[in-house]
Amino acid sequence: MANELRKDYILNRWVVIASHRKRRPTDFRGNQVEENKVIICPFCPGNEHLTPPASLIYFMEDGELRKDYDKDGVRRKDWVIRCVPNLYPAFSPRKPGATLSPQADHIHVYMEALGYHEVLIESPNHDEHPSVSRIQQLVHVINALKDRVSFFMSREYVKYVSIFRNHGAKAGASLSHAHSQIIATPILPSIVEEERNVCEKYYVENGRCVFCRIIEAEIDSERFIWENNGFVVFAPWAPTNPFEFWIFPKRHQSLILELTEDETRDLAETLRVSFGGLRNLLSDPPYNFGFHMIPEKHYHWHIEVYPSLATWAGFEKSTGIYINVMPPEEAAKDLRESFKREEEAIKDFR
Ligand SMILES: [Zn+2]
Ligand SMILES: [Zn+2]
Ligand SMILES: [Zn+2]
Repeated sequence: MANELRKDYILNRWVVIASHRKRRPTDFRGNQVEENKVIICPFCPGNEHLTPPASLIYFMEDGELRKDYDKDGVRRKDWVIRCVPNLYPAFSPRKPGATLSPQADHIHVYMEALGYHEVLIESPNHDEHPSVSRIQQLVHVINALKDRVSFFMSREYVKYVSIFRNHGAKAGASLSHAHSQIIATPILPSIVEEERNVCEKYYVENGRCVFCRIIEAEIDSERFIWENNGFVVFAPWAPTNPFEFWIFPKRHQSLILELTEDETRDLAETLRVSFGGLRNLLSDPPYNFGFHMIPEKHYHWHIEVYPSLATWAGFEKSTGIYINVMPPEEAAKDLRESFKREEEAIKDFR
């Protein structure tokens, strides 16, 4: 059978689905790189002095969740969630005199890398990654993300807030303690801008959201993986990565700030089942994920999960066309079974 060239639902991005080689999950296992073994983890409780002061802390008091931040040179140690500025930020808050928009010098366009770069430490427990996390802890993680996103979006020069996670050394995680990162940028990333433009055009022409339409189609397709009341998980039509899957809220919403309490819990469960399922299927593979969200009513936020199982080389880098040796329909079948097993396994303590 000839390989198929597929276009992303929205982006002008093409992927070669190379189905001629039969692939099994075992073909992708066991290529993990040894983590950097650090003697002292700066994210573990007791080592708070090794990070900048926390911008947000969740802690428990009298059975109630409370919020605080580090002040007066004192570092709180009784946290359940801790957000800290990145020690080596890619983007930094505006200092007086900084210009807010790009400058141009003939062919060279530039501006200061204004913004924020924070780490969200997801648990005091070093290894409490989403794949093994308590659901309630993931609820705290989502609520803390909402708090920080809401703060960053209120800054005038912030055009986009990116939430992402790197898991495993091969996927770029330099520390193995469970954490995600948030970067607020003064520009709109091109991928999100392209999604936004298509969403707007589709809405004008069809009177509805293109992502709602995609969900409607994929929930009954062979790419469907899992769902609960609030969320659906499926393998996208033209994934660039083997075993890639996307997570969508069923209800149309532009930002995670719109999540209800029930939906927050549904998302926590979805993360646990998804990453537990991924871990079981592929022996805890390295992965990255990123949220896509913008505060515009035609847009539908979602999470794209990219298992880090392929090496992109000359062709991909020079053309932006990807070769994926795992057809999403086959990946979805394996993931569907693994997610189901994970759901069964956690049923008793949900
Ligand atoms: Zn640690
Ligand atoms: Zn929608
Ligand atoms: Zn997207």
